[in-house]
Parts: sequence; C-alpha cells; structure tokens
Amino acid sequence: MNIFVIMKRTFDTEEKIAIKAGQVDDSGAEFIINPYDEYAIEEAIVLRDQHCGEVTVVTVGTEETEKELRTALAMGADKAILIDCEEVESMDQFSTATLLATYLKDQEVDIILGGNVAVDGGSGQVGPRVAELLGIAQVTTITKISIDGNQAIIVRDVEGDEETIEVTLPVLVTAQQGLNEPRYPSLPGIMKAKKKPLETLDLDDLDLEEEDVEGKTKTVEVFLPAEKQAGKILEGEINAQVQELVSLLKTEAKVI
Ligand SMILES: Cc1cc2nc3c(=O)[nH]c(=O)nc-3n(C[C@H](O)[C@H](O)[C@H](O)COP(=O)(O)OP(=O)(O)OC[C@H]3O[C@@H](n4cnc5c(N)ncnc54)[C@H](O)[C@@H]3O)c2cc1C
Repeated sequence: MNIFVIMKRTFDTEEKIAIKAGQVDDSGAEFIINPYDEYAIEEAIVLRDQHCGEVTVVTVGTEETEKELRTALAMGADKAILIDCEEVESMDQFSTATLLATYLKDQEVDIILGGNVAVDGGSGQVGPRVAELLGIAQVTTITKISIDGNQAIIVRDVEGDEETIEVTLPVLVTAQQGLNEPRYPSLPGIMKAKKKPLETLDLDDLDLEEEDVEGKTKTVEVFLPAEKQAGKILEGEINAQVQELVSLLKTEAKVI
C-alpha cells in the first residue's frame, strides 16, 4: 500500500508569539511537527505495518524542515520528500496545495494522511485542497480508519458526535485528536533515520514556474488579540447577584 503523509513544520505550541515589523517573529523559536500531523504519521505507520507497503512523508518548506522530516523517519516512515519553496516570494494555502498535488499526481497513491489543521496558520485548507486538485475522495477530522481491500471505513468527529463513512481508495484523510497516541522516536529509530532516503525537489523538478504557485491572497495586517480584561466575581445573595448581573449586562456590557 502506498501511503503518503503531508506534514507541516510549525512553531512549538509552547512558544510565545511576538510580532516585529508587521510580521510574526520566529527568530529563536522552537519548531516541531504540527501536532495533528504526528497523528497522521503514527496512523500511516500502523496501516503500513498491517497492510505492507511504504510510508512517504512530504513537506513544503525550506532546508530547515529536514529536521522534522528526519523525526518522521525516526518514528518509522520509510522515505521523505522536501519540496523546497525558498524561492517563492509569497505563499498561501493555494501555493502549498498546488506544490503538494503536483508532486502527488505522479505517484501511485492509496492513502494520503494530513492534519486536520496547522496549529500556526490554522486554516484547515491544505488537505481538502490537495484532494480536490487530485480529484480523489476526502474525509476530514478522522478518529478511526480501517482498510478492507480497496475500501476504507472511517469514523470522523463531527463536533463531538461521530459519523462513519465508507470510501473507495484512493482517499485523503485529515487527522483529529484521538486518532491514536503518536510514538516517540526510539534511539535505534533515530540512528536508522539518518540513512533513510530524503529527497529534495524544487520548482524545476515539478515543472512549475514561480507564478504557478504564487499566493492568491495577501496578508493585510498581522496583530495580537487585545489583552483580556480581568473578570468580575459577583458576591452575596443569589437574588441580589442576578439583579446586579442583569444590570451590568444592560449598563456595562450593553448586550441586553
Ligand atoms: C517556506 C514557506 C513560506 C511561506 N511564506 C508565506 C508568505 O509569504 N505569506 C503567507 O501568508 N504565508 C506563508 N507561508 C505559510 C503558508 O502559506 C501556510 O502556512 C500554508 O499554506 C498552510 O496553511 P495553514 O497553515 O493554514 O495549514 P492548514 O491548512 O491548517 O494545515 C492542515 C494540514 O495540511 C498539511 N500542510 C499544511 N502546510 C503544509 C506544508 N507546508 N507541507 C506539507 N503539508 C502541509 C498538514 O497535514 C497540515 O496539518 C509560508 C509557508 C512556508 C512553508
């Protein structure tokens, strides 16, 4: 079975975001595999071990992303592909999805796994866009997947409820929290990862020009959310609290 994982390098979720000169300042920040993509990698490895085949992890990034690709290889993926987009001036979800789909359309694909959302950009667009460009089925926010022949039986999270879907392969799925417990790379895994194939492709390799992948959107402004004001705790008799609450909602919050 040919299994592909689309993986994004993101800020560590512990990082405090700062803005400098109208841009998110990533100097000195720690980077990690997008946490939802760790679920995707884990599930890909489990499916490969059950059904045989190969797991290829693909990322759009720069040479710095090799570190996260090596981590994915140390977890147990077989191959890694870095699509280097250093030379592209402005990128957005259209750009990333176009680069990924251009690479994937020439591969024999059974399943593509990605994250439900990236914890930095957070649009949740890349997976569904890739599936659309490839003309294959897509199922988002999955919490369970099993394969039977060329059918996938998938359970997806629908805002706290569950939906079970049966699709014919090839399919692109995006991982939701709860799909599995991603493994940590073991020491032998880390040693083996150093020798596993990691191929870098650029626009030329994909027969693309810069204008084919330039972003369609423009960031107009980047700003931090307004600081939260301290809350107010009401005290005293419950009836008096209710009266005060109603009065505050009318006079201060002006919502009723
Ligand atoms: C080198 C580089 C330069 C960039 N330059 C700009 C810029 O100039 N302006 C700007 O606004 N944005 C820029 N971006 C950000 C980029 O446009 C978005 O982060 C990207 O399109 C993903 O969107 P998202 O974060 O909303 O991901 P989502 O759509 O929320 O991600 C969902 C899932 O899609 C997959 N995915 C997402 N991104 C990637 C990826 N890069 N590779 C593989 N799989 C992925 C993962 O499985 C992920 O879990 C750049 C990104 C990179 C890597």
